[in-house]
Amino acid sequence: MSADTYRGLGQPAPAEFQELHDAMQIIDPACLADDRFTADNAPVGDLAPICAGCPLTPFCEAYALAARPSAGVWAGRRYGSHTGRVGRPRKDAA
Ligand code: SF4
Repeated sequence: MSADTYRGLGQPAPAEFQELHDAMQIIDPACLADDRFTADNAPVGDLAPICAGCPLTPFCEAYALAARPSAGVWAGRRYGSHTGRVGRPRKDAA
């Protein structure tokens, strides 16, 4: 997903999205390979330690606070109540 087609809604992405996206070009966070970060029923307490050790936490938290994603665990905090990777930057997005 590009920043220009943020969330597939054609709306501009917040600056924090681009910063997180750019950081993900350098570092693959653990959440990319862990579906618990998008599951409604995964205990946040199990995931928070992973986020605490993630070098992308400042970017992730800034984005989540700005965008309030509709789903998932971001920087150790659950947002929304739906599953899916809505709004999460993809490694291959440009
Ligand atoms: S801090 Fe964000 S990018 Fe890092 S593992 Fe947690 S949810 Fe993923």
